[in-house]
Amino acid sequence: MDQVVTKSAVTFEQLTTCEPVLRAIRELGWTEPTPVQVQAIPVAREGRDIVGIAQTGTGKTGAFLMPALEKHGNSERLSTLVLCPTRELAQQVAEDARVLSKHLHLFVGELVGGLPIRAQIRDLRAGFDIVVATPGRLIDHIERGTIDLSGIDVLVLDEADRMLDMGFRPQIEQVLQALPKKRQTLFFSATMPNGVHALALRILNDPVWVEVTKSATAADGIEQKIYSVRPEKKVDLLVDLLGREGWDQVLVFTRTKHGADVLDSQLKRAGISCTVMHGDREMKERHRALAEFDNGKVRVLVATDVAQRGLDIEGISHVVNFDTPKDPEDYVHRIGRTGRAGATGTAITFMSGELAQVHDIERMLGYQIERISLPEYDYEGGTAALRPQPQAKRTGQRFGARRVEELSPEQLRELLKVG
Ligand code: AMP
Repeated sequence: MDQVVTKSAVTFEQLTTCEPVLRAIRELGWTEPTPVQVQAIPVAREGRDIVGIAQTGTGKTGAFLMPALEKHGNSERLSTLVLCPTRELAQQVAEDARVLSKHLHLFVGELVGGLPIRAQIRDLRAGFDIVVATPGRLIDHIERGTIDLSGIDVLVLDEADRMLDMGFRPQIEQVLQALPKKRQTLFFSATMPNGVHALALRILNDPVWVEVTKSATAADGIEQKIYSVRPEKKVDLLVDLLGREGWDQVLVFTRTKHGADVLDSQLKRAGISCTVMHGDREMKERHRALAEFDNGKVRVLVATDVAQRGLDIEGISHVVNFDTPKDPEDYVHRIGRTGRAGATGTAITFMSGELAQVHDIERMLGYQIERISLPEYDYEGGTAALRPQPQAKRTGQRFGARRVEELSPEQLRELLKVG
């Protein structure tokens, strides 16, 4: 995929003196730090608390792991705790920590629900240097007395907005009670609604604010399109779009688990290789679905919002919102699954009359998303395409609203060719 990351003058050598981490970075093929890494790492190295407003896909995991690994040094106790909202994100962060610390010979633990607690207790006895956990399972260990948090000197709250959305506030409070008061806290969130802001102010000590994109703006490099489509035509339109070149790894979001299962069967019936992932599926099945999607065995992964965060699969070319997301922040997070770390990607949203929701999303983005209307699928029988659209606030090759009036059906079809 095309790399569109802007070059920065800063090198990794300026951000850490920890040679084993630099070696791991070279092996990963990272050539230069991302903006959030450039901004956050020097501040974290000074020992300051951070509020990082950064989405997944910006390199934020490296931004908190690199200084934490450097700080850990030769300490032989559990010194870093990363709290994540979902199992998938926790597993992803733990994996990144293992890769970045592989020449340091550290032990990275993953304490997430859905996996046997006994094995975790046994591993905890053997000792970890870094633990990545979801709040529920961590509390379980705290209450059983199977984890000693007295040596934690770096606490990372990853995707704090999501944790509050998911109702983890009481668990976060309980974890904070169990941690040493003297510590460094790195607080990352894609968005800063009032509740998140208030939590940050209360638990952080004179934090430095680091913001790489404006709160809840969509990642650059993502081409966004909205298709107006009649509900009964959505599957046909999706099958039609999937028939096009370059749609290699496609993540399709549905609103409900049932909807995901139904769509999965419909796509299979249309001869499309696909799999499904949602909260009702066993952990084992979710892993299998992810692995099949990741290694290219299936082209399409149909998922509910359970997959929205923490999914970091290389090469997702397209994200499709089969149902318009209700919450504008969900839109931003969903489309963040493509266009990761500077790669380009395309995000498609199907709109079957949910104009108010689309307006909410556009208000949050600050610009209008390109609309595409094909007469045979259009919600309004093709008329929406012919109506002039208000001038987009932010115009440009990728984001500008395209007027589709006076286009022939052939020209409209041409518009469909994404990429
Ligand atoms: P994150 O926002 O932490 O989820 O990172 C998104 C993706 O970018 C992950 O696949 C990382 O491995 C990758 N990444 C992080 N930092 C860099 C970098 N400096 N250069 C290239 N890729 C990176």
